[in-house]
Amino acid sequence: MKPSVDANLCIGCELCADTCPEVFEIRSDGYSHVIDEDPPESQWDCVREAADICPTEAITIEE
Ligand code: SF4
Repeated sequence: MKPSVDANLCIGCELCADTCPEVFEIRSDGYSHVIDEDPPESQWDCVREAADICPTEAITIEE
């Protein structure tokens, strides 16, 4: 899978980084960035959970 964050939608709430810290991180710009663009299968559940809980639907996943 290939997760991505739409910088125009992200509000920097940190929920994704809290849920899936090996894939998402909040950087000094205050927004979430994908730090692992090809996460291993062990991370897929938390990537999907992060996308589900993102309040602005900023996270998309290419399967
Ligand atoms: S959960 Fe969504 S809005 Fe919140 S930091 Fe992550 S991508 Fe941004």
